[in-house]
Amino acid sequence: MKIHFLLVLIGIIFCLSCKVKDELPVSPAPEIVQTAPEIIPPGPKNIILLIGDGMGIGQITAGTYLNNNYSSLERFPVIGLHKPYASDSLITDSAAGATAFACGIKTYYGAIGVDPDTQAVTTILEIAEEKGLHTGLVATSTIVHATPASFIAHNEYRRNYEEIAEDFLDTEIDYFVGGGKKFFNRREKDDRNLLEELRNKNYKVGDYLTEFDEFKKSMTSDKNVAYLTADNSPLSVYQGRDYLADVSITGLNYLDNKSDAGFFIMIESSQIDWGGHANNEDWIVAEFIEFSDVIEKVLDWAIADKETLVIVTGDHETGGFTLQPGSKMTDLNTTFTTDKHSGDFIPVFAYGPGSEHFSGVYENMEIFHKIMKAKSW
Ligand code: MG
Ligand code: ZN
Repeated sequence: MKIHFLLVLIGIIFCLSCKVKDELPVSPAPEIVQTAPEIIPPGPKNIILLIGDGMGIGQITAGTYLNNNYSSLERFPVIGLHKPYASDSLITDSAAGATAFACGIKTYYGAIGVDPDTQAVTTILEIAEEKGLHTGLVATSTIVHATPASFIAHNEYRRNYEEIAEDFLDTEIDYFVGGGKKFFNRREKDDRNLLEELRNKNYKVGDYLTEFDEFKKSMTSDKNVAYLTADNSPLSVYQGRDYLADVSITGLNYLDNKSDAGFFIMIESSQIDWGGHANNEDWIVAEFIEFSDVIEKVLDWAIADKETLVIVTGDHETGGFTLQPGSKMTDLNTTFTTDKHSGDFIPVFAYGPGSEHFSGVYENMEIFHKIMKAKSW
């Protein structure tokens, strides 16, 4: 009797489900946990990591509206959010922030490529070198400033600029461009001339006394490249600095032409952060629009190349910068909640082979691990 009842019940449910199927196109339940695809697509040959220092949602929003309601970030198919906090502070800085991307760890405020016990941790740039890839760093701050430094140096404190400069000599980095010449050749702690030492290590060395446009004609694949754009910090965009697009695309072509090995490069728009600290909307917007243009060109390069993973993110937001009521698209009413960093989550944009790893909400150091996964390292 019980079995009979059960069979009838199953029959009714079956018929009901058939009927529903006939009448309505039922979409499948959303998959919350993504399963690995059966065929793993080939990973990227080249990795380009673009960092907008201090670039949060407010900076992107204001920069987009004041750029005729457009930024190149709109072209990215994959978007995620990272949690930027440091190991010892919910509000991070560029040192702990970049070390998370570079080394895959949470570390303390001010740490350059070291863990909370100040022990050196191998960076993604150093791993790329070990794996035979070519490597590059580009910044619109000094090249020994926290963001680029965290990819190549290991120091317990971010402001030890002269020590950080020495670490460039311990690597085989193929291409670096940024400010801070004085930390290499007019040093306070010793009389070393690191630019001379670089030349002796087969680097073609140049600086702002020769325009980059002129300097790049003398670049050859058999020599590494170091070009210092300023004695200390480079100018801001609105003071006339305009090298980021040229040195970035020149770098991609140079690294790509060196060999078939592939490359890793980190390109930083350093001064969105400085505009935030200065609570200066014009500074933020000018730097963001330049960065958007650089990203546009990098993306076009990667689309043509087909083997390049492009990741764009910020290390943290600066200024608590936001759009207030009364804003019009061409005339924003913006405000700041601080002249320091804020703790907001930060967007991540990805394109190319391996970009599928970058959707979702995750810790900042996962960017390192996602790059490692994309490369199958
Ligand atoms: Mg920076
Ligand atoms: Zn800052």
